[in-house]
Amino acid sequence: MSEKRILVVEDEPSLAEVVSLYLKRAGFQVQIASDGKQAMNILEKQIPDFVILDLMLPEVDGLSLTRWLRDRSDVPIIMVTARREEIDRIAGLEMGADDYVVKPFSPQELVSRVRAVLRRIGREQTGAESERVLSYDSITVNPLTRAVMVRESQIDLTAKEFDMLHLLARHPKQVFTRDQLLERVWGGAEYIDPGTVTVHVRRLREKLETDPSSPKHLLTVWGVGYKFEP
Ligand code: CA
Repeated sequence: MSEKRILVVEDEPSLAEVVSLYLKRAGFQVQIASDGKQAMNILEKQIPDFVILDLMLPEVDGLSLTRWLRDRSDVPIIMVTARREEIDRIAGLEMGADDYVVKPFSPQELVSRVRAVLRRIGREQTGAESERVLSYDSITVNPLTRAVMVRESQIDLTAKEFDMLHLLARHPKQVFTRDQLLERVWGGAEYIDPGTVTVHVRRLREKLETDPSSPKHLLTVWGVGYKFEP
């Protein structure tokens, strides 16, 4: 899975820079458009995974841009507004933003909102898929009973170990970075040590693998992250 691409539409360069910095640090790819027209040019070529949109913009304002974009795409949008009263306007117009923040806002708060919207959408999209029993060669993962069978015997996993295995096994061969695993398994909680992922991978290997020091299923992709090999 590649990094999610976010388009930040913001005409204040310093604010755009700060937001971009925080988003990049959170593992997103960021592109900046400094007015509505430029945003349209970018969006016409390619729709990103997420749009953060300032309401008051030169050329084409945020409301018109949102309406224009909604005719073309369901891409999640977080609206940035400068004043409290603008929220009523947004709510009244029901113009299709998924969330909004009011200036001045903390960039970290914005990152949390982005993650929350992505999680919500991810849950909606994978609802049915995530309940399927996964059966591979020697490993069976049942998300409904949360039971894992390895070579015919059931193994005991902690809740997070199960969630991580289930995520990886649901997307065989797909590489997940540590940040993505933190995000998807731990919900992107800021206080989780990234080393937690390494520890959980090690414990999972001890429970799953015939030889944990030479794993066949839970593989490290050096410099990137981890993947499940069926
Ligand atoms: Ca503005």
